[in-house]
Amino acid sequence: MEYFTGIQIEDIIAIRLDQGDDIIESIRKLARKLDIQTGVIVSCVATVDRAAMHYITTTGYPAENEMYELEGPIEVAALQGIIADYEPHLHCVMGIGEKTYAGHMHAGCRTLYLTEIVVHKLRGCPLQRVKNTDTGIMQLKPRL
Ligand SMILES: [Zn+2]
Repeated sequence: MEYFTGIQIEDIIAIRLDQGDDIIESIRKLARKLDIQTGVIVSCVATVDRAAMHYITTTGYPAENEMYELEGPIEVAALQGIIADYEPHLHCVMGIGEKTYAGHMHAGCRTLYLTEIVVHKLRGCPLQRVKNTDTGIMQLKPRL
């Protein structure tokens, strides 16, 4: 374990996306535009008509995963994660009818009716992800 202290909220940004807007690409663009080097996505509700995610398929190293895509009227029930060095790493829970899907969000989650997101822009300990050479896992580290 490693942990990082001295982090403060610099700003709270509420975002509305409209039909056709890609959720993760919009967050990436906004992170650059508003200089959110480090941030946290604390809330998201959305409807999407396409989704792209992956789930892990291994319990050992190297970690492997499988992509999957969904289509239809999809409810995004939850989305959260950390922006480090302007790059969001987001996990989400989505539903189609009574079925629930969860995973790591990729580009391709396209807003249907609306998306509402709240992001906290953080300061005090800029973070980045660095590949662990033993495991291949990208790990949070302070940006020096
Ligand atoms: Zn992930």
